Amino acid sequence: MNYYSLNHQSPNVNFKEAAIRGQAPDKGLYFPEYLPQVDATLVQNIESLPEAEIVFRVIQPYVGGTLPDEVLFRIVSETVNFPFPLVPVTESIASLELFHGPTLAFKDVGARFMSRCLGYFLKDEKKKVTVLVATSGDTGGAVASGFYGVEGVEVIILYPKGRVSPVQEQQLTALGKNITALEVEGSFDDCQSMVKLAFMDELINAKHLLTSANSINVARWLPQQFYYFFAYKQWSDKTNPPVVTVPSGNFGNICAGLLAKATGLPLGPFIAACNANDIVPEFLQTAHWQPRKAVATLSNAMDVGDPSNFVRILQLFDRQLAQLKEHLSAESVSDAETLATIKDVFERTGYLLDPHGAVAFHALENYQVQHPHSKGFILETAHPVKFPDAVKQATGTDIAIPEVVSTLMQQPKKAVAMQPDFAAFKEYLLSR
Ligand SMILES: *Cc1c(COP(=O)(O)O)cnc(C)c1O
Repeated sequence: MNYYSLNHQSPNVNFKEAAIRGQAPDKGLYFPEYLPQVDATLVQNIESLPEAEIVFRVIQPYVGGTLPDEVLFRIVSETVNFPFPLVPVTESIASLELFHGPTLAFKDVGARFMSRCLGYFLKDEKKKVTVLVATSGDTGGAVASGFYGVEGVEVIILYPKGRVSPVQEQQLTALGKNITALEVEGSFDDCQSMVKLAFMDELINAKHLLTSANSINVARWLPQQFYYFFAYKQWSDKTNPPVVTVPSGNFGNICAGLLAKATGLPLGPFIAACNANDIVPEFLQTAHWQPRKAVATLSNAMDVGDPSNFVRILQLFDRQLAQLKEHLSAESVSDAETLATIKDVFERTGYLLDPHGAVAFHALENYQVQHPHSKGFILETAHPVKFPDAVKQATGTDIAIPEVVSTLMQQPKKAVAMQPDFAAFKEYLLSR
């Protein structure tokens, strides 16, 4: 299996190269040369197969021999060594809880897989490897946790000041060691564009072997397929495939689900649930792609004004909008609707959603008004404790703080202040 750049101006590379580079030299995203269909026996027997075996069989063709089977098996086993329960919330909506990993959000899966792959690929590298990552919330914590203490790898995380929750900020800034957090006086889009510019800069690249840990990296994107298989495994009515609703910001997570479906996992239609950053819902309606500055919302990990993974979704459907719309719809949900959903679901069922899961829940309920007999699940992408203010605002109650979180909150914060200015960032990188 090789990967080509969606900009078509760079040579094709194998999984190892794509994982190390992150982005193709022509700034395109890497995309698999072909879509390996999942083995029919995997789908038929899924209920009796162990998680590690399922995901090993799913990911093996994508890795294309760049990792020995026994190394790959160890990596996937460590990647999914926590639960992924599909919890019924109402008669027709279940919640796929993706927050049982070390940083309480779904990004642990991609980050754990990627950091272990890079650790293996770069174990004999002489130059210092620097992972650059821009985060709108949970990426940074997951990446920091995944790489913490990995020798020869330095991680530099850029995050928008005041736009991540206190728990998220602690997860970025408390670790230290080979993890450095830069607190940028700007938005997530500023952070992302500084990272993009660094990758294009000759001087920086001469000094650092740069790699990207954002969701554009194939080693983060592809393993996000795993928990769609786990959801299907737990879905009891196999003759009625579930409607899948994904809270979406940069569109990596939903793109992985659509890839799983395109390669043979029997899932129903997908709904991309967005907050006020409604570039994709607008695109599906008007066929115009109009990236904008991100606006701040309660579901801050989805505050993305130019969702970079969407080009991969287009590619999955041969750039045919009509074909895409058969599988994917999208909806924008306001902060007021998000809060009302948290409150309503909590009062009706006792189930506590985080703001991201609530955006998805609201979108799926709206879909079910149009499709009254449909059933589905949402991806609950983060633990509600990461967003205590929103939860309190919605329900009037304080959320119980798990011990891992209270310990974390007592650690000192270590962050470097940074202007949203590439020259300053460049100087910083060159000084290291
Ligand atoms: C990152 C994130 C999202 C958005 O995922 P994308 O892959 O960027 O679409 C949704 N919810 C939470 C909690 C996140 O951290």
